Amino acid sequence: MPQELSAQDITSERQDYLKIVFHLQYTENPVRTTTIARALGVEPASVTGVIKRLAELDLLDYRPYKGVSLTEKGEKIALEVVRNHRLIELFLVESLGYRWDEVHEEAERLEHVVTPRFIERIDRFMGHPEIDPHGEPIPTEDGTIKPPSGTRLIEIEAGTVGTVCRVDDDDPDLLRYLATLDIEPGKQIEIVKHELYGGPLSIIVGGDRNHLLGIEAAKHVFIDTDID
Ligand SMILES: [Zn+2]
Repeated sequence: MPQELSAQDITSERQDYLKIVFHLQYTENPVRTTTIARALGVEPASVTGVIKRLAELDLLDYRPYKGVSLTEKGEKIALEVVRNHRLIELFLVESLGYRWDEVHEEAERLEHVVTPRFIERIDRFMGHPEIDPHGEPIPTEDGTIKPPSGTRLIEIEAGTVGTVCRVDDDDPDLLRYLATLDIEPGKQIEIVKHELYGGPLSIIVGGDRNHLLGIEAAKHVFIDTDID
């Protein structure tokens, strides 16, 4: 029985492919090659070669003309990389004083090079945290992850009060904009009104500040409304 592959046994590029498929599978499964190409900002033709190689390694299930999904082994590696990413982000914010808009970029690089021992130490040092600075769930060491929480702010009806549970982390400008409005995980938000014709959302943050929030930003903020 060959030894099971872990993230360190494959190139950073291949790790990134598995990670992107993991994220895209939430909205599309199987994930089409063109969707992967768009997400990575590369030509579809260049995606196919990597995908075939990952299928040979039994990390992706590749169905021509349909797309790909992660195999069990592929998902294990994707979760390892996501875990590295999110623990690194939290460590940078909590221990090294980074702002939340500065950490994604660093984590994108470091996630590929840290050893399992380094990550295990960070995890222990941080007290086995469950969410990263942007509210995303951190996969456990044995490869389980909670489903992403919340509903997009843009989809929530006026009159609703909820709590910010997470925000998309990959656009530093957006994170800085949200910070100026005091929008971060844990903050209470009341949706007062959706302005007509796709205009901004009128919201109250933290019970006392009234803001207009652009709809492009509202697509990247997720809210728990406690109504199940
Ligand atoms: Zn990130």
